[in-house]
Amino acid sequence: QARQSYIHVVEFDPVMDEEMHDRLQLATELRTAIRNGELSLAYQPRIDLATGRIAAIEALLRWQHPELGHVRPSRFIPIAEQTGLIVPIGEWVLETACAQAAGWNWQGSEECRISINISVQQMVHPDFVAVLDDVLARTGLNPKQLELELTESIFIENPQKISKILDKIKERGIRIAIDDFGKGYSSLNYLKRYPADTLKIDKEFITGTQSDTGQIITASVIQLARDLGLTVVAEGVEQSEQLAFLMRKGCNEVQGYLLCRPVPHDVCEQFLQQFDLQ
Ligand code: C2E
Ligand code: CA
Ligand code: CA
Ligand code: CA
Repeated sequence: QARQSYIHVVEFDPVMDEEMHDRLQLATELRTAIRNGELSLAYQPRIDLATGRIAAIEALLRWQHPELGHVRPSRFIPIAEQTGLIVPIGEWVLETACAQAAGWNWQGSEECRISINISVQQMVHPDFVAVLDDVLARTGLNPKQLELELTESIFIENPQKISKILDKIKERGIRIAIDDFGKGYSSLNYLKRYPADTLKIDKEFITGTQSDTGQIITASVIQLARDLGLTVVAEGVEQSEQLAFLMRKGCNEVQGYLLCRPVPHDVCEQFLQQFDLQ
């Protein structure tokens, strides 16, 4: 019976067959992507609304495939997470971002941080903290200039284990951001249970501010996060009306195409210097 239904899928669902084939192929090719130098990082600044200066810079992974060209992270990160490849890839991101950031001229931007996305699978890996220490030691980056962006899904399983890891991260002076807040299983519980410094409100909420209800919800999230002492960041800001709304409601920092698209590291370094002259 089981065998029959399997054959059925293969024979009569060519779309699913192709999808599975693509995923397997991408997984295989992702395995060699680091070695072949196909991965790189783009950097997107986020701006402090009180000062107009760069508050932090998010590292975003890019994959230039020899035949397919640019493969979007939303396509390959889930595959990397499912196959465990996110562990070596995440280590490469950490190392590369910290090394590049350590080489930038931060003079006058000491408050500014490099912000790196970390997947659950990567963080619960037994070597995670050791790798972090090793990367900091090797690159010489000041831990105070590092922030890790974690999605809420990190908090669902193994809360005790995660708490211990978060404590170790905090002990080193590294900051913690809750990423994609409002997307998926948002729970206000996480905000009080975990030692986060920053809350990044997901783009969906920012897009939603075109409706009255959306404005009420987003304004309340900003207020709540601020009352809890968190730095509130809005992601995916594309329109000046959104920016005006966020300023009015006391959002601390903004990130999005309206202000700056993700750029290569040398361009990002120039931005830091330009801001320094002001
Ligand atoms: P994210 O962490 O929510 O990152 C923000 C995403 O929104 C980025 O997409 C960024 O390029 C995009 N973005 C920024 N401003 C705007 C805007 O104004 N409008 C729109 N439409 N989009 C904007 P990207 O680079 O494609 O990355 C997608 C996701 O992939 C990220 O979402 C993050 O979850 C994941 N990701 C990227 N790099 C890494 C990484 O190094 N490690 C891990 N674990 N995940 C990563
Ligand atoms: Ca992020
Ligand atoms: Ca994210
Ligand atoms: Ca997001």
